Parts: sequence; C-alpha cells; structure tokens
Amino acid sequence: MIKKVVIILFVFFMLLPANAQQESKKISLKFGKHKDFFRFVFICEDIETTKSVNAKLDNEGTIKLFFPDEFDFEFEGKSLSEKDNIKGIKTEKKDKTLVIKTTLVKEIKISRLDNPPRIILDAFFEEGLKEEILSRGVVLIDAGHGGKDTGLQFKEFNEKDITLHIAKEIATKLTQKGIKVSLIRATDEDMSIQRRIRVEHALKPNIFVSIHVSNKEQFNVYTSSIKKNFIKETPSKILLIENTAVKNFTKKISEKFSEPTYSEKLPLTILKESISPAIMIEIPRRILISDKKYKEKIIDAFVQAIELTIKEKEKEK
Ligand SMILES: [Zn+2]
Repeated sequence: MIKKVVIILFVFFMLLPANAQQESKKISLKFGKHKDFFRFVFICEDIETTKSVNAKLDNEGTIKLFFPDEFDFEFEGKSLSEKDNIKGIKTEKKDKTLVIKTTLVKEIKISRLDNPPRIILDAFFEEGLKEEILSRGVVLIDAGHGGKDTGLQFKEFNEKDITLHIAKEIATKLTQKGIKVSLIRATDEDMSIQRRIRVEHALKPNIFVSIHVSNKEQFNVYTSSIKKNFIKETPSKILLIENTAVKNFTKKISEKFSEPTYSEKLPLTILKESISPAIMIEIPRRILISDKKYKEKIIDAFVQAIELTIKEKEKEK
C-alpha cells in the first residue's frame, strides 16, 4: 500500500514541473499616465526577453509589440485576455504580438533596464492634446463644421459660427456651475470627423454633445444604435446615459420652445465611433437668423439638459 502511494506521489511530482512548463511565461505590466505621455512598463523574467522585444507605431497611433515568445501579460492582478484594455486603452493579444490601440500617440520610445529586467515604453501624445488630457472634462462639446466647411448657410450666416458660439457659451455656463467642460474646437478651424473622434477617445468624457443646425424648423436629437468602439463591460451603461440625455434634452426643449423635437437612432460616424455616451443635437434653422434672445434660450435649455444628465449619472454611482 505504502509503495503504491509512493509511486503515485512520485508520478504526481514528475508531472508537476511538466505542467508548470506548459504555462506561458509571465510579464507583468505597469501603466502610468503622464503629462505628455503614457508609460507602459513590462517587467520580464529575464534580460534575454527584454533584449528581443520590438515595438512599432503606425499612423493611426496603434502600437505593436513583438515578443520572442507567447506571454501571459498580467495587469493589476489579472491576465490580459485576447481582447482587453489597460485603463480603457484597448489591447489585443495575438500569438507573440501585443497590440495597444492608443489613437493619439505620435511617437514611441523604448528603453530596456535590468534589475528587474524590464522594458519601458513611453508613448508620447500628439501636440495639442496634452492640455486637454490634463484638464479632462466631464462634458465634451463639439461645435459642428468649421473652417472651409461652413455647414448650412443663410445670407451671411453660417452654421459653423452659430455652433461655435453656442458651444462656447454652454462651456462658460457649465464651468460657472463647477462642471468641467472641453471643446472639440474653440476657433473657426477645419477639423475632420476622425480628428474629432480622436479627441473624444483621448478625453473619454461622461457625455459628448455634438451641435448642429437642422435644415428644418425642428429640433433633432440623434444617438447611434451601433457603437463600434465599446470598451469592455460598459455598453449598457453608455446606452443608459444616452437615453437619459435624449430624455432631458427633449424635456428642456419642450418647456421652452414651440418647435417639435424628434429623436432618432442614426449611425452617424461621430456617434458610432465615439467611446462615450454621445448625442447629436440639431437646432431649428431659424437660429441662423434669430436674435440674441432665441440663442440664449437655446443655450439655457442645453445647459440645463446637460447638467441634469451629469447629475443623474452621478447619482447612479
Ligand atoms: Zn451640421
């Protein structure tokens, strides 16, 4: 009997190291957000590994790291799964490659240190995004159009100027109420939708509001039923906030205006690509020729709707 137990134990111990070897090697990851860059630190088990890691950055701001072997990346006590994220930055693991999708990085620098053996990857932000990242606002406002893109026109009036005026006024009023606000553009400048989305990705606001003018005498509130860039675990929350925002805008507008409000789900690029709760609102076209009073009423309604949405979101926590 004893002999049998000994044999079983022996077999067991023989198997143990074999099993352990099958597990992939571990790299623990550390992440830090700095003024001008993200720092990713990969702590390896040996110096050989650190020497054979390569990194590449593409035009979209995606970082690809090539490792000499398959590794198990451990971040905050958890292993990164195939599709995961590091503090909201999307990652993808495939064989010996780790992809980090930053969208806003323009330069990377890699250094290798011993003791413990580690690779330090500093990913520097695009110029102009630095300050915005520092002063991360909870509300992000997008004034539609800009620069060569005038949007709707009536006589000498342009949609791009109206949206900018309203966006800036909303920002001022929300700031006075102690709510942090960022603007996608604060001047009359050309800005692609992709660039707007990149700012949104970088800031990850609690709510993203894009302002436009309707070609009809009505308010339109749009959200997208499709979201391309959900960060794991948050889709239902995002949709909930979007619905709350639509409800609040509709309510505040109907209290103050006679024009009807239509809400619709539309897969508009800026809404679909955003990672935060995002709505687009179109103001009746009479705003183009209207007086200061009408504009102020719009601004007040929007400020109240945004404030209400933010407060309801805070209550949920
Ligand atoms: Zn527009």
